[in-house]
Amino acid sequence: MLPTHGRATSQDPETQLAHLGRAPAKHAGMVNVPVYRGSTILADTLEEWESRKTPDNPMASYGRFGTPLSRALEEAVCALEGGHDTILFPSGLSACTHTLLGCLQAGDHALITDNVYGPTRTFAEQVLKRLQIDIEYFDPADLTGLASRIRRNTRVVYLESPGSLTFEIQDVPAIAALAHSVGAFVIIDNTWASPLYFKPFAHGADISIHAATKYIVGHSDALLGIVTANERAWPCLRSSAHHFGEIAGPDDIYLALRGLRTLAVRMRRHWDTGVQLAQAMACHPAVERILHPALPGHPGHAIWKRDFHGASGLFGAMLKPMTRAQLSCLFRNLNLFGIGLSWGGYESLALPIDPLPARCASDLDCPGVLLRIHAGLEGAQDLIADMTQALDAALNADSESVRRRHGAPA
Ligand SMILES: *Cc1c(COP(=O)(O)O)cnc(C)c1O
Repeated sequence: MLPTHGRATSQDPETQLAHLGRAPAKHAGMVNVPVYRGSTILADTLEEWESRKTPDNPMASYGRFGTPLSRALEEAVCALEGGHDTILFPSGLSACTHTLLGCLQAGDHALITDNVYGPTRTFAEQVLKRLQIDIEYFDPADLTGLASRIRRNTRVVYLESPGSLTFEIQDVPAIAALAHSVGAFVIIDNTWASPLYFKPFAHGADISIHAATKYIVGHSDALLGIVTANERAWPCLRSSAHHFGEIAGPDDIYLALRGLRTLAVRMRRHWDTGVQLAQAMACHPAVERILHPALPGHPGHAIWKRDFHGASGLFGAMLKPMTRAQLSCLFRNLNLFGIGLSWGGYESLALPIDPLPARCASDLDCPGVLLRIHAGLEGAQDLIADMTQALDAALNADSESVRRRHGAPA
């Protein structure tokens, strides 16, 4: 039997990744669903046209409502996440913003975790507030603080666990219980864990967002957002997407579905390499502290162990205070780590980030520079060697400049 679209939730994730969202019998036997380009979808008869326009079959009437290819990716991710239905957006940020707009209206109150993805926070500040939506941020580690902020008109509690800059893990089941006591929707940006390592609906979330740009696409060659909702939240999400006319491009959808097939092997390797690299960096004299939920010293480690099935390759490294010259020396000496935004591709990245100005939580005491590291698919020992020599060079750059300043021989 050739596999067809379907929800095989009892299977291993690896098996699901290989078989979900495929329908060779409908596509001339092709293993992969081909790229569908199209706006107009023709009907043979007036009766067929009318029958297609039923509310439960909107995609059959116009390209903007989806194609067999977009449906294949939506069904695959929906099954992996364990939700009711899924919809695609042209970028991860578009997925975040339209989900918020779909759930909120003037007069509503939204609680957003303080460690949220920066552009999502900017959207809340500059657009949601203008629409008379009351926005408040909460410390992701402080459940009591969150409980005291929940109001009767709280409509959304927005999470990102762990945050992609500062890596705080949130207690999603406990937060969901608080949010649901007033009927609020729990929205989680699940990008860090991918659909494999955190199952949001099993932990009480109502909506789960992926910047598929990151691990699902996996090759830094497309932008895409994917949002899955449970039955209660689905009408808000679907109408928001349709009213705004958001539609992802067919080539990007194809690349995401193709990326999904290898997600498990890539994630397993990002996880292993990330932990090895983080452990090696933790021992380096230039490093103050590592922010990685899979390491036992991390404040969210116990919840990570309880709720997650694995870790991605993205983590933080707080450096001891160093000069600007030392920092640029560090980056000059990195050969295998690219300097750039995004993450989740096969290639390693390193970037200095400034998580502090936007945050109200004060637990993140960072005297030096915070680096965000993405461990790619290169050899772990090569990455460790490259990072170690660059950190060494940064330390030596300081002693050289100190020697020069004090007139000592080099
Ligand atoms: C990158 C990212 C986004 C936005 O995704 P884009 O596809 O770049 O728009 C949203 N949330 C998180 C956590 C991200 O890392």
